[in-house]
Amino acid sequence: MGSKRASRTPRVMSRILSGPEAIAAGIAELTAHRPVAFPTETVYGLGADALNEEAVHAVFSLKGRPSTNPLIVHVSGIEMAQPLVEEWTERADAIARAHWPGPVTIVLKKSGCVPGIVCAGGETVAIRCPAHPVALALIEAFGRPIVGPSANPSGWISPTTPEHVLAGFPEKDLVIIDGGACRAGIESTVLDLASGAPRVLRPGVVGRDLLSNTLGVDVEHASLVEDGSPLRSPGLLGAHYQPRTPCRLVKSSDLASAPSAAAVIAWSISSHPSGGVFAGLPGDPEGYASGLYSAMHRADAGPCGEIWIEHPPAGDNAIWDAVLERLARATKSG
Ligand code: AMP
Ligand code: MG
Repeated sequence: MGSKRASRTPRVMSRILSGPEAIAAGIAELTAHRPVAFPTETVYGLGADALNEEAVHAVFSLKGRPSTNPLIVHVSGIEMAQPLVEEWTERADAIARAHWPGPVTIVLKKSGCVPGIVCAGGETVAIRCPAHPVALALIEAFGRPIVGPSANPSGWISPTTPEHVLAGFPEKDLVIIDGGACRAGIESTVLDLASGAPRVLRPGVVGRDLLSNTLGVDVEHASLVEDGSPLRSPGLLGAHYQPRTPCRLVKSSDLASAPSAAAVIAWSISSHPSGGVFAGLPGDPEGYASGLYSAMHRADAGPCGEIWIEHPPAGDNAIWDAVLERLARATKSG
């Protein structure tokens, strides 16, 4: 009798690793030009050598990301950022000194060493220094800047835990470095410093007021700039951050009529009114932002035909602006 030796090639599976072993495995992947998932304080990123075109290409292809959507380059500090840009301006220096490591990305004119693929063929590069010890350890050990788009298939909900990354790429041979749950929970603020007046291209947990204080000039929101120029951040339009299940924003007063077939994500109640899948969120902006993507992942994993998201509490706060931008795009159809 023949033994049941596998005639098929073994199935490759993504792996979650932690500790020094994880950093070593991450460096091996980066060196081999294979993407590696790593934690930051915002969301998990898909890392690759930012100065190597083949490595960056592998990230676009794993995510299914359109080549028109540029990537953020992650650095371990100002020194690593400077060679990436044509000129490290006074404004860039002020922002970096005040907000790095942290969730603020700055856009500047790129230098010749940054491959065109990173910047979607444009003249500018987006750079940030993440405030997460594991991300910093990885970049420092690699000794080179790494790109780090969110570690999810393009358009899908961003991951804030290693398990979310795994859910996005279940049958890929991806090394996922475990850094726990992401603290901030939504993507960095993207600040354009490459053209005239500084402006926010993507809202994040660091708001315009804070950035204006740092720079001593008013920082505008890109959509408010009426100079006729196109938006400088091509990835910031249309549907994004989407669960696979159709999603809609509802008023608090509508929650009572949620059917059990609809998953509910809410902050003002503590259980599903009809006993269906429920994910609760805190009512404060930091807590809400930190838990939002996890709640969306949980609701999406359930057997529901629809996800109802309660409109967040109104409030004049930069984090609520950022949350509302994500929710508008998560619930946008088409
Ligand atoms: P993600 O990688 O998913 O966090 O998305 C990164 C965001 O940064 C995208 O929406 C890009 O449009 C924006 N971004 C990256 N590079 C640039 C750049 N050179 N100019 C303007 N926006 C950029
Ligand atoms: Mg993303």
